[in-house]
Amino acid sequence: MTSKQRAAPAQAALDSIRNAVGPKGVVTGDDAAPFLSEWRGRWPGEAAMIVCPASTEEAAAVVKICAEHNVAITPQGGNTGLVGGQIPFGDEILLSLKRMRRIREIEPLNNTMTLDAGVVLAQAQETAKDAGRLFPLSIGAEGTCQIGGVISTNAGGVNVLRYGNTRDLVLGIEAVLPSGEIWNGLKRLRKDNTGYDLKQLFIGGEGTLGIVTGAVVKLFPLPAEKVTVCAGLENAEQAVRLLSHAQGATGGGATSFELMRRICLNLVLKHIPGARDPMNEPHACYVLMEFSSGQKSGLRAQIEAMLEGALEAGLIADAVIAENDAQAQALWRIRHSISEAINGEGLGARHDVSVATSDIPAFLEKADAAVQRLSPGARIVAFGHIGDGNVHYDVIGPEGAGPHALDDKRVEIESAVYDVIGSFNGSVSAEHGVGRHRRLTLAKRKSAVELDMMRAVKNALDPQGIMNPGKML
Ligand code: FAD
Repeated sequence: MTSKQRAAPAQAALDSIRNAVGPKGVVTGDDAAPFLSEWRGRWPGEAAMIVCPASTEEAAAVVKICAEHNVAITPQGGNTGLVGGQIPFGDEILLSLKRMRRIREIEPLNNTMTLDAGVVLAQAQETAKDAGRLFPLSIGAEGTCQIGGVISTNAGGVNVLRYGNTRDLVLGIEAVLPSGEIWNGLKRLRKDNTGYDLKQLFIGGEGTLGIVTGAVVKLFPLPAEKVTVCAGLENAEQAVRLLSHAQGATGGGATSFELMRRICLNLVLKHIPGARDPMNEPHACYVLMEFSSGQKSGLRAQIEAMLEGALEAGLIADAVIAENDAQAQALWRIRHSISEAINGEGLGARHDVSVATSDIPAFLEKADAAVQRLSPGARIVAFGHIGDGNVHYDVIGPEGAGPHALDDKRVEIESAVYDVIGSFNGSVSAEHGVGRHRRLTLAKRKSAVELDMMRAVKNALDPQGIMNPGKML
């Protein structure tokens, strides 16, 4: 059921919710606008009420009232999601975790941190650092997105190669179930084989199974040395070989391995003030690599030797090593500015897809050919976390054709790219999730068996369908 088919909440239900959270827990008037639209202004929403509980108990009280009155709920974290999952349609209440920002416990000896779901990711990273530990999840939106949001989308980011996705970083979860019951799954254990691993349902659950209110996350030693490198090369085939070469030469020392085609750099240079080309000569592709080590043990010398080997093997044409933090940040700024730079050219057709890393060159070749057949001259801005097989494959109109050049072709292009992804048994949503944006794509691209299993889980936990209706399934 979508919220479109649900009656507007009864006034009695809204009054009870208001009583449960108090006046500070309800957002009204002009303050409501930032909750109801995502950063690019896509999917403007409406909500019957915006509620910000201050504790797990308050969140549970709100959900219980909703269950009793059959009121739907859209959970929201930092509102940085890219698929519209956090934006309600109108008859739901929006439940924001923004007032739940407590670090509950940090245990350096157990390498764990227990925190409220509303803690902003950057704050979690800082808290871990202050305790001499690393919380390695890092994404472009880390100054705004929340722990509950990254858990609910199973966010990836730039350090997945070494530390895994959010799923690999979570040991325990506390959640409010659609009935209003609180499930305390805040285990700090690295081994626990006592049946189904229920927390996994909430990781990547996009708020469709309950509200994540707290979590236990893993911490790691802080790296003592980091080396950031940008290499110029000819194609994705070389990039994939370079990854294998670099990991072999450094004992798996790469934390990030990001591919950018030249067009990415051109768009960043055009649209982002202060950006500059890191190399003297242009190259068809670039790889931004970061390596880290727990000891000050000559990592830089190791990387220089690795790059020499790569030059000799014909895997790269040139490379620059960042000499200091400012240079490293300038290289990362190029990478992190690509999406914003593409926005300057219009919406186009955007894809966040994944294949096996070794299939990336063949995927790009097939997808490029399919796109050019449909829209000759379209520009293909391919970049992303290729160490994880994840490509952000964005198609925009020909140079000078204007921001709406692909409006008529978008659906066809997306379908063609997803067909190619299907031929590699890849994923149509690598790290951004499904939300409302890819809901129909999911219905079309997942097997009937998978969809039936997902619906069975949804119906078992949320028989009334009150949790984030119209999203994902
Ligand atoms: P929201 O956007 O508020 O919500 C996202 C989804 O989770 C919604 O379905 C919502 O209902 C649900 N949800 C939120 N909180 C809860 C909760 N407590 N309980 C239950 N459900 C909840 N993503 C990546 O994976 N990798 C990247 O590198 C990356 N880079 C980005 C860069 C930029 C500039 C931006 C704007 C986004 C980027 N994203 C990236 C996408 C986005 O930041 C992530 O999806 C993030 O995890 C969303 O967190 P949030 O707190 O903003 O969640």
